[in-house]
Order: sequence, then structure tokens, then C-alpha cells
Amino acid sequence: MSASAYFSADYREARSKFRDAALRAGAQLTTYVNPNSKGPNGEELGTDVARLGPPEASRVLLTISATHGAEGFCGSGAQIGSFETGLGRELPAGTALVAVHAINPHGFAWIRRVTEENVDLNRNFVDHGGAVPENPGYDDLAEAICPCEWNDAALAAAKTHLEAYAKAHGAAALQFAITGGQYKYADGIFYGGTAPVWSRRTMLEIVAKHAGRARRLAMIDFHTGLGPWGYGEPIVTHAPHSPGLARAREWYGERITSPRLGNSASADVRGDILTGVEERYGEIEVTGLALEYGTLSLEEVLDAVRADNWLHAHGTIESAKGREIKRMIRDAFYGDKPDWKEMILEQALAAERKALRGLAAGSATAASGACRPRRPMRRRPSARPRRSRRSAPPSALSRLLPAEPGSSRAFPTWHPIGPRSRRRSREAFAWSGYRGAIGCARTKRAFRRGASAAISSTARIIGTAFPPAPSAC
Ligand SMILES: [Zn+2]
Repeated sequence: MSASAYFSADYREARSKFRDAALRAGAQLTTYVNPNSKGPNGEELGTDVARLGPPEASRVLLTISATHGAEGFCGSGAQIGSFETGLGRELPAGTALVAVHAINPHGFAWIRRVTEENVDLNRNFVDHGGAVPENPGYDDLAEAICPCEWNDAALAAAKTHLEAYAKAHGAAALQFAITGGQYKYADGIFYGGTAPVWSRRTMLEIVAKHAGRARRLAMIDFHTGLGPWGYGEPIVTHAPHSPGLARAREWYGERITSPRLGNSASADVRGDILTGVEERYGEIEVTGLALEYGTLSLEEVLDAVRADNWLHAHGTIESAKGREIKRMIRDAFYGDKPDWKEMILEQALAAERKALRGLAAGSATAASGACRPRRPMRRRPSARPRRSRRSAPPSALSRLLPAEPGSSRAFPTWHPIGPRSRRRSREAFAWSGYRGAIGCARTKRAFRRGASAAISSTARIIGTAFPPAPSAC
């Protein structure tokens, strides 16, 4: 069966396919109905949890879809594909697979990133009783980010304002201002809320039920919207120098990225779901991974988020403009093409298998609680060179790449803004992405084909703001 068969056209279809696939795989299903919202057609909204493996499992792999609702097309497809392709039969002894389908069912059903409270779930896991993170950049730009009108004149004025900010502070600062999260503007975007929302409470309840007695928990949270078409950036949110980060590197390889270390396409945000679970269940060894798959350019994605926010605050969904905006937001978070779906599934399965191996193998890092020195990249036992001549990097790139595998200089160091540095960063990113893609040769070939066309916006951010490469751990 082709990968496309595991993906769905809407939340309702995804839910039905997920439940069927889970039951066929022999999983137990639990549903958490969202009492606060209904779907566009009045349908029930719920988070479905499928569990395979023994009830007393000490090791749990937990996957999450639709943390950002509209991104659920991707995670749902990956979860359904995992069941349908038999991942459940690969579980080592004492290990459970728990798939959390549509943790933000409202956002998935309405094709929105946010929950029914207009909250970004990945900014909501903060202590709302304490000091929430400040975002002075958003304060400066609030009206430009979310104008009250959505027409050519208003958008041109907003664009001038945003570009002036980028010119003064850099593209990365603009990205952080918009996407880093804010806690003041309830009708704005990337809003973290004022209290734990239903999806957050439900997530913690699910972890308590399915992993509360586990010793080791691996989490994979599926996202879309950043990076090159179909490439799953393996983002780790564990703190720098933490055993969690070292463990993630051990499991997933040298190409994991870290917003906290500045080498990810994602801004360094607070209140994300992976960190929230890790902090809540400190007694469990948690190893988290966000797989962030690229779709369109960053500009197109952010425009779609802004437009969708305007639509739900000021517009009419059942209008020509409303339908156009809903198409924009769907395209921004769902690469509804066969090659994209194939790449999503392949990298998801590879990541899940790596997590299962990591859970089963134990970890010297975890045992010692210490930060291990960076391991040299493993070479394939084959005598054949890792790269053919055809895929060798261009000469400009070769100057940026480490002379020896495993060198920490995997990414270019920071360059001032300029076409040359942008080009170098683009090449380096393409190269590192292709080499680092969690998947097999087919995905890497597809990524190579697609990367050059879709990479420019990510490279623009990275090229203008890449800090020095992260040190080991
Ligand atoms: Zn996301």
C-alpha cells in the first residue's frame, strides 16, 4: 500500500482511519472527548489513544499528532502508517507503543494551529502562576502581525513595519518576535494562554495513565511548517549539557538540532509539550524528539497563520476570502502530495525504530547522568564511500563542512548578512539535511531532489542568524 493511503483529507477521516488501524494492529483504544468544542459539522472532537504492549511496560514510546492542530494531517498519517506497516510487531519485550492521536482535536478539525481557546499548545506548558516569558518584539509588532483588516493596503503597511524590524534586528529576531510565544494578546498568534488548556491537561492525564509507572519514556511529537519540503528536522528541546540531549544524540544521531543551541529552524520557545511532560514527570527518564517537516516557505506559512487568525477573529469562514484562507492554512501545514507523504512516513518509522532501540538498549549516559563527549560519526562497514561522486558537495560547501566526520563544525559559523553567506548556509543546510535525514536512501534521494526548490526561506533565517555550531552535548 502506498504511503498516501495512510493520510486523510480531514480530521474526521483521520480519526476513523486511526481507530481502524489501531484496532487491526491489536491496540487498546481510549478516547478523551473534548467537552469544550465541536467540529465544523457539529461532530464530536476527541483525542484517541491507542496502546500496544504490556500494561506493566517499563519502557514506553509515545507519539503525538496535532499538537498544532492543522499539523495533524502529518502526524496522523505517520501514526496510522506505523500501525499499518507493522511497527507494533517490532516492540521489544517490556515496551509499549502509545499513539496519541489529535491531542488538539479542535485545531485539527478546524484546520487551525491553535486550540479552542486560541492557544498555542506548544507555548501553554509554562507556570501560569509565575512569571510568564516576555516577548517585547511581539509587543512592538502586535498590530503589524495581526492587522484588523486583511486587504492589500493593510498588508502592505504591515509588511513595511515587519521588514523594518527585520532590517533593524535581523530575520531571526523577527522570527522570534512572531513565533517565540506571547502571553498578552489573547486574540493574537502564538499565544500561550493564561491557564493550562484542555489539551495540556489531557496530555498529562494520558502520560500519567500510560507511562506513569514507566522508567523510560521516549516521545516523538510530529510537526510541520518549517524547513525544506518533506524533510523532518529532528529537533530536541532538552537543555544544553543535559543527559537528555546527549541521549537524544546517541539515539537519533549527530544531526539532531536544538533551538536552545541555535542551530534549529525553530525559534527557542518556552512552554512546549515535550519539556512540559519532562518537567512534570521528573522521575521518569524522558527522551523527546520533535520531527518538524517542511512544507512551504516560512513566509507563506506565517502569512497563512496570520490570515487564519484574522479570519477567525474578524472574517467569515463561509465566504470566498474565508475559503481561500482555509486553503492557505491547509497547504501551509499539509504537503498533500504523494512524495511528501512518503518522506513523512519513512522518516517517522525510522525515528520510531531508533527510539525503540534506544529504549531497549539503555544508555551509559543515563546511567552515569553525565554528559558524554561527542562520539565520532559511525562509518558504514562497507568499503564503498558514503557518498558517490555525483552527490559530492559543491566546492563552496566543502570548505564549510568538517574535514573529518564527527567534527563539531557541522554547520557554518555565524556569517553577516550577505548573498555569499546565505548561499553557503543554504548549501550547508541542504547538505546536512540530506545527510541527517532520518530515513533510508529513498527519502534522502527525494530530499535531494526537493531541497533546492524549497529551502530558501529556512536558509534565509539560518543564513542571517546562525550562531556558532553547538559544542558537544
Ligand atoms: Zn508545530
